[in-house]
Amino acid sequence: MAVPSTSCCGQLGTITGLDVAFPNSTAYAATERAYWSLQEGSLTPSCIVKPTNSQDVIAIISKIVSNGDCQFAIKGQGHAPAAGFANIDNGVLVDMTGLSSISVNGDGSRISVGAGASWLEVYSFLDPMNKTVAGGRNGAVGVGGLTVGGGISYFSPQTGFTCDSVLNFEVVLASGLRINANSTSHLDLFRALKGGVNNFGVVTRFDFSTIPIGDILAGNVAHDISQRHNVFEALANIADAPTYDSHASIVTSLIFSSMTKAWTLRSTPIYTKPDPNPPVYQQLFAIPNITNTMQLTQLHVLANETATPQTNLLFYTTTHGISAELIDRVFDICNSSFYSFDVPGSVRWLISFEPLPTVIVAHGAGRNSLGTSAKDGNAMVLLFTAIWTDSAQSSRIHSKAAGVMADIDFAAREMGLLHKFRYANYAEASQRPIASYGAENVAFLRKVAHKYDPSSVFQKRVPGGFKLGYS
Ligand SMILES: Cc1cc2nc3c(=O)[nH]c(=O)nc-3n(C[C@H](O)[C@H](O)[C@H](O)COP(=O)(O)OP(=O)(O)OC[C@H]3O[C@@H](n4cnc5c(N)ncnc54)[C@H](O)[C@@H]3O)c2cc1C
Repeated sequence: MAVPSTSCCGQLGTITGLDVAFPNSTAYAATERAYWSLQEGSLTPSCIVKPTNSQDVIAIISKIVSNGDCQFAIKGQGHAPAAGFANIDNGVLVDMTGLSSISVNGDGSRISVGAGASWLEVYSFLDPMNKTVAGGRNGAVGVGGLTVGGGISYFSPQTGFTCDSVLNFEVVLASGLRINANSTSHLDLFRALKGGVNNFGVVTRFDFSTIPIGDILAGNVAHDISQRHNVFEALANIADAPTYDSHASIVTSLIFSSMTKAWTLRSTPIYTKPDPNPPVYQQLFAIPNITNTMQLTQLHVLANETATPQTNLLFYTTTHGISAELIDRVFDICNSSFYSFDVPGSVRWLISFEPLPTVIVAHGAGRNSLGTSAKDGNAMVLLFTAIWTDSAQSSRIHSKAAGVMADIDFAAREMGLLHKFRYANYAEASQRPIASYGAENVAFLRKVAHKYDPSSVFQKRVPGGFKLGYS
C-alpha cells in the first residue's frame, strides 16, 4: 500500500529497520487477533509498529510527536478488555511485544524484563532458579499493563502490589529522552508510574526484585451454590484473619450463565509454599464440595492457562470491606438481576472476590500512587466480568452491568462497607480509578505528568486508558 510520507505511518516507514504493518497484512492481522477482547481487536489502527528495542521506541515516539496530527496507542499483551485502551482507530498502534528480553543479575535477586513480555515468559525463566516476581496470575497477561496499573499477585501478601516490586523503570518520554526512574533518580516519576498507568511515557524495561519460590499449592474447589454462605464465611475469615497468612491468596467466583440459568461457585485457593494442607484453608476445605483439584505445582505450570477465543468482554470493579453478609447480598442482587435477563447467544457473568488485606497495601503505601493505606482496613476487591458473543447486545449488557454495580455499591454503602479504591486494571472505561487514589495523589500525578510531558502528549495524543483529566 502506498502511504504518503507526510502521513504519520508514512513517516514511521522511514525509520531504518522498523517494519510498519498495514491493514490486510499478516503481521497486522496477527496483532489484532492477539487482543483478549473482541471490542479491542476490532479497532483498526492506520498502521502497527513493533519495536524490538528501546532505540526503536525513541525513534517511533520522536516521529509521532513531531507530527501534530498523529495519535497513538501503546499495547502490551492486550489484556485490557475496554475498547481503545491499548488499540486505536485511525492512529498508530505501538505493539510492545517485541521488547521481551529477560535477564537477571549475578545472584538472581533482580530481573530485567522487556516491557512487552508476558508473565508466563517471566515465570518460565525464573522457576528453574527457584525465584519469582509478584506478577499476574494468568501467564498470558502483560508485564507492562499489569505493572503500571498496580498488579495483584499470588505473592502480594508477601511483597505488595506488583508495582511495589519494581526497582527501576526504563521509560521513553514524549521528548524522546530515555530515562531510568528509581529510588535515586527521578523518584517522582518512579512513584507515579506505580499505578499511574500510561500517562507519563512508554515503559521499555522493568527491573523487579525477585523472591524465593518452591512448589506451590494450587487448584480449584467447586461448591454447590447451596453452600454459598458457608463458602463466603470461610472466605471472609481468611481475608479478615487477625494475622493474615502471607502465603495465602484466594479468589472466590460466582458464575452465572444465561443459557443454563445455573450458578457455579468456584474458589481458587493458592498457598505459595509447598504445604499440602495449610491451616488457613481448613474451614473452606471442610465444606462439602463437588470437586477439589488442589495439588502441589510450579508457578509456570499454573500460569500457563488455555487461551480463550476472542469475544466480547467487560470488566467492572468495586472495593468493599469484608463481610459474608455483604457477599450474600451481592449474590441476591446478581441472582435477581440476571435470572430473567436474556440475550441472543447468551451471556456469562462472573463476580470474583479477591481479598485485599492490609498486609498487601502496607508494602507500598506512600511509595506508589494508588492511594491505598493500611488505615483503610482489610478489604475485598470485586471483579465483575461479562462475556458474550453477540456484539449487537453490547449496550444492553453494559447498562445491565452498570445497574448491578450501582446496586452492589448501594448495598455496601448501606452496610458502611464501601471503600473508595477502584482498581484500575479491573475498572470499566466509565469508572474513575485514578480519582479513587485521592485528591492528593491526583495532584501529584498531574504535577509529575506536567514535569515529564509538558506538552501533554500522553494525555491528548494517547487517548486510551485512564487519563489524568487536565488540559
Ligand atoms: C485473563 C486475565 C487475567 C488477569 N489477571 C490479573 C491478575 O492476576 N492480577 C491483576 O492485577 N490483573 C489481572 N488482570 C488485569 C490486567 O492486569 C489488565 O488487563 C492489564 O491492563 C493487562 O496488561 P496488558 O499489558 O496485557 O494489557 P494491554 O491491554 O496491552 O495494556 C493495558 C494498558 O497498559 C498500557 N501499557 C501497556 N504496556 C505499557 C508500557 N510498556 N508503557 C506504558 N503503558 C503501557 C496500555 O497503553 C493500556 O492502557 C487480568 C486480566 C485478564 C484479561
